[in-house]
Formats: sequence, C-alpha cells, structure tokens
Amino acid sequence: MNNEVCKKCGCISFKLVPKFPHIGMYCTKCGAWHRWCSKKEVTTEQYSTISLSEIEKECKIKSDLKSKIVEFEDFEDELLKITNKDDDDTPF
Ligand SMILES: [Zn+2]
Repeated sequence: MNNEVCKKCGCISFKLVPKFPHIGMYCTKCGAWHRWCSKKEVTTEQYSTISLSEIEKECKIKSDLKSKIVEFEDFEDELLKITNKDDDDTPF
C-alpha cells in the first residue's frame, strides 16, 4: 500500500475510509479517491484502526450534541425566567 502514489498530488500516504460495503483508499493530502480496497487487502489491524476512528468520530459528534443540549437547557432556563417575569397568569 505504501508504494502507491496519488494520481492528483503525488502523495504516497493514504487513509482507509469505510464506505459500506467497500473500503476506500483516499489521499491524506488532497483527499482524492484512489481506489477501493478489498477486505482481504485490509489487515485486521488496519480495519480495527478504521473502526476506532469511526467510533471516535461518532463520540465527538455525540459530545458536540451534548454541549448543544446543555446550551439549549441554559437557554430554556433563561426563557423560563423571562416567561415567569412577564406573564404572571401562567402557572410555571
Ligand atoms: Zn493526493
């Protein structure tokens, strides 16, 4: 895998991106698609790296979402304060 060269920029470093049911090889420099890898080509070690990075990505999305939820809860609190202040008829 290391002696392959990107057709676009000549970079020799590639990353594996799983695109179900295939595994794509993408240039790490310009992001160009290089070729598909067969599952046989990808060693278990490499594949576990892919899965791990995918999981990490998902975790990051989740933590981003969590912070957004916290923001929203803060906003809701502020909103409730305003609502309580302005409208005495509501039983909040
Ligand atoms: Zn490239």
